Amino acid sequence: MKITAVETIPFAIPYRKPLNFASGEVHTAEHVLVRVHTDAGLTGTAEAPPRPFTYGETQQSIVAVIRQIFEPQLLGMAPTRREAVHVKLNRTVGNPTAKAAVDMALWDIVGQAAGLPVTELLDGYGEFMAVSHMLGFAPPAEMAEEAQHVRDTYGITTFKVKVGRRPYQLDVDVCRPLREAFGDGVELYVDGNRGWTASESARALRTMDDLDLTLAEELCPADDVLGRRRLVERCPVPFVSDESATRPGEVTRELLGGSATAISIKTARTGFSHSQRVLFESEGLGVEVVMGNQIDSQIGSLCSVAFGAAFEATSRRAATRSGPHHRSHSRRRRLPRHRHPSRSRPGTRGRDRRCHLEGMRHRASRGGAARGCRRGAQHSPPRPERAAVLNVHNRGYSRAEKRRNALPDWWQ
Ligand code: MG
Repeated sequence: MKITAVETIPFAIPYRKPLNFASGEVHTAEHVLVRVHTDAGLTGTAEAPPRPFTYGETQQSIVAVIRQIFEPQLLGMAPTRREAVHVKLNRTVGNPTAKAAVDMALWDIVGQAAGLPVTELLDGYGEFMAVSHMLGFAPPAEMAEEAQHVRDTYGITTFKVKVGRRPYQLDVDVCRPLREAFGDGVELYVDGNRGWTASESARALRTMDDLDLTLAEELCPADDVLGRRRLVERCPVPFVSDESATRPGEVTRELLGGSATAISIKTARTGFSHSQRVLFESEGLGVEVVMGNQIDSQIGSLCSVAFGAAFEATSRRAATRSGPHHRSHSRRRRLPRHRHPSRSRPGTRGRDRRCHLEGMRHRASRGGAARGCRRGAQHSPPRPERAAVLNVHNRGYSRAEKRRNALPDWWQ
């Protein structure tokens, strides 16, 4: 089996609600759908989310680097030779999400060829992944209302609160009412996206010492080397490196340099292959990991879940879901079930043209539904939800699927 084309399709999905945080804001998912085609008729699909404020990539740069550099390098290669592919991709520096999307599309092809879901190709630990919800900057009352809605509607009880504003009291004034409103019924952790200095971070953490935060992520820049090391030494909870540790080498540097005591893994930037390396490296060094999200659409979110559920270490903590705009996620999602490769080949009709990663176990045609986790039922029973069945091959959604309300508002 040989790679015959690497297709890039830019798309834009306006979010129902923008996400604001210390390092930027996102109003529209202007991402790139990456499809790797093979001569065996199998097509792997993944999503590249450009984040210029984090990785320096744009939608246009992702399309350009794949079309001009990566595709000519990969034509004729076997999709199973992922390491050889990465050696070629790494001749070009940067472009993490473009490389990650190509990597995940290759895994998708291998999964189809082997007749196995990617989760089982990886380590096959579980079928479910608990998810957390990101609360972006907004007035405290609005953030509390959003958290209440998400908890009551989806049963999600872990919240990642974006902080990093100045003065830091603005964020304390969000976290404290959340804790007071929900008591011990929710898990709260904070993500500063490097918005504070090390000393501001230390003061903020001291002020929030009684709020039982479970993680502190990127409160100050990693480039403030000594300040951050001092902060991490005194931080009472695991200090997570996210955007400062996007490659295995950076993970080593951050952990051994004392700039972090936990690692965020995002398949959007390390694909499946290098996310594995980051995970094993973190395990070997004895630090916790948490699955992050690059505000991906359904495809990227499924990739995160597929990876996170594959390992015990990544399943321990709730993975960040895509944000306040994505209403289709339930508290835990069942993973895609194996679908025979022949049913995913281009050229077949209707639902059989869905890609492997998106071959949802619960298909609208069978009345299936991805049910929310009952673990949050003591607070408020999550509402069972129908899985958003996504057909990324050419035709979008069928009218029948839309009629069943299988799709989130933001997509339609
Ligand atoms: Mg983060």
